[in-house]
Amino acid sequence: AWLQGHLDTLIRDIPDFPEPGVVFKDITPLLADHDGFSAVIETLARSGRDADGAVIVDKVVGMEARGFILAAPVALALGAGFIPVRKAGKLPGPTHAVEYDLEYGSATLELHRDSIREGERVLIVDDVLATGGTVAATAKLIEQCGGRVAGVAVLMELSFLPGRAAVGDLPFRAVKTV
Ligand code: 5GP
Repeated sequence: AWLQGHLDTLIRDIPDFPEPGVVFKDITPLLADHDGFSAVIETLARSGRDADGAVIVDKVVGMEARGFILAAPVALALGAGFIPVRKAGKLPGPTHAVEYDLEYGSATLELHRDSIREGERVLIVDDVLATGGTVAATAKLIEQCGGRVAGVAVLMELSFLPGRAAVGDLPFRAVKTV
């Protein structure tokens, strides 16, 4: 309850960023606030536990770049490994790659092939779920490694965009929905 009341002031709207017509959700004030940041990490980490509090994931995946900031502390909170999904050409070892559509053009995300083992349970963590393209591409990468996506946890869901359709039947948590 404390967190819900404070998120509105800790996440600010930046109009016309990164381009005209887009209202960008800026999470940097939240990251600078210790109480807010830790409450968010605790809430996101619930997606990696069952009803009794037992950890049900082996790995937590975060997507470049703001996903890293949230997924790494969630991984530590769960006693799980952290795995980065990066933009094309950034990871040094052999990767799986998935290309996906953006509003204009396309992008490619990559994951180290040996970062997730067959059968491992993986939680996806990101800051914002918008169209869902990033989450869908990340889920594909995890499946290409033989991993099983155990859930998707985001700080903020933009409900006026179709992101939830991309999440499908996977367990889903948004700390805040706008
Ligand atoms: P999607 O693939 O769901 O359309 O977009 C989600 C990705 O774009 C996330 O990785 C997120 O970091 C970024 N993103 C899209 N819109 C926003 C926004 O308004 N604020 C922030 N912080 N990130 C956004």
